[in-house]
Amino acid sequence: MEITKLFARTILDSRGNPTVEVDCFVNDNFISRAAVPSGASTGAYEAIELRDGGENWGGKGVSLAVANINDMISKELVGFDLNSPNSQIEIDEILLELDGTENKSNLGANAMLGVSMACLKASAKLNKNPNWRHISNLMGTTPSIPIPMMNILNGGAHASSDVDIQEFMVIPHGFSSFSDALRAGTECYHSLKLELKRDGLITGIGDEGGFAPNLPTNEHGLEYMVRAIEGAGYSTEEIGIALDVAATEFYSKDGYKFDKKKSTGEELVEIYEGWIEKYPLLSIEDPFDEDDWESWNLLTKNCGDQCQIVGDDLYVTQTKRLEKGINLKSSNSILIKLNQVGTVTETFETLKLAWNADFKTIISHRSGETSDAIIADLATGSGAGQIKTGAPARSDRTSKYNQLLRISESVTSYFNPFS
Ligand code: PEP
Ligand code: MG
Repeated sequence: MEITKLFARTILDSRGNPTVEVDCFVNDNFISRAAVPSGASTGAYEAIELRDGGENWGGKGVSLAVANINDMISKELVGFDLNSPNSQIEIDEILLELDGTENKSNLGANAMLGVSMACLKASAKLNKNPNWRHISNLMGTTPSIPIPMMNILNGGAHASSDVDIQEFMVIPHGFSSFSDALRAGTECYHSLKLELKRDGLITGIGDEGGFAPNLPTNEHGLEYMVRAIEGAGYSTEEIGIALDVAATEFYSKDGYKFDKKKSTGEELVEIYEGWIEKYPLLSIEDPFDEDDWESWNLLTKNCGDQCQIVGDDLYVTQTKRLEKGINLKSSNSILIKLNQVGTVTETFETLKLAWNADFKTIISHRSGETSDAIIADLATGSGAGQIKTGAPARSDRTSKYNQLLRISESVTSYFNPFS
């Protein structure tokens, strides 16, 4: 069962930007396809996404990454036997060696991840396993359906509004199945639209399908979330709130420009503490800049027993950054994005390091997505516990929720870290 061809092309992502798609052929038959997502509020330490520059596509073309797959990577991997039990590790090692850089700037993390994921799917198919089961076999984990974190109000770099916080999410944790949780979260989405309309606010949407109105302050976002939950007929005992502040986006050497004024990290800690007291706030992602380790530690020390403190830009799914965060007690949870590190095997390693440190783990989409639903399989197969994949709207987001509905016909274990 040898790879006979890897073929890459340029396709469009959900923001209308080019991205990489890879087809894998085994014994001359088409066997699998993978598409690579792309972030907007990217962390400075992420693996490098190779873009062409120049005039076409506003500089965002991926023809260099596509060519790297069709030439260099193909040459190396054609003839590789996917039947080997260690094939994923071996393929990812070959990619790392071929690239030869710390940050994957030679081949491009977008080229490497496209190949890594296409090969993952190819070996799943050759083993006659769904992707989630193949992943759990590779990782030695027990599959379970994750709880959804649904981003129904968009701000920050994902919207044109004046809201600093990037994501306001519902966590429907008081339900015994994924489908009931998804329904409840979706009802909150529709309820939020009614609440915004009632107040004469616009209901246009942001990059992840959530509504994106202007609001007088960031705290108004939390008030609308509570109204959305209660307006849908639920209590805040069964549906909580998560934020992705994405604070690096509004940080500079002068501090944090939040709610139109300058704040220090310590002042932000006080704001978050107040919100944890006042609202059903269960999870805060990227509350500070990616290098403001001191503020991370302070918030985790003060609130880590009541609230998930989640590192996204802080860790960029990389073991080195995560090790530092574990030692400094910077957070108690990590967001996992395949393309921040660039290979499937390295993503598994980061997940395992996080679990060894008793961190909670959340598998995540990017704000620029495709219909590829592999993160639904990764979240289930790894048993990560949580998935964040946007609003229950637009097919780039619903493709993941719908895949989880399909998977939950086979996987009955439903992990609820909030119960
Ligand atoms: C995030 O910050 O968690 C996110 C999904 O956004 P982006 O993909 O723009 O980094
Ligand atoms: Mg984030």
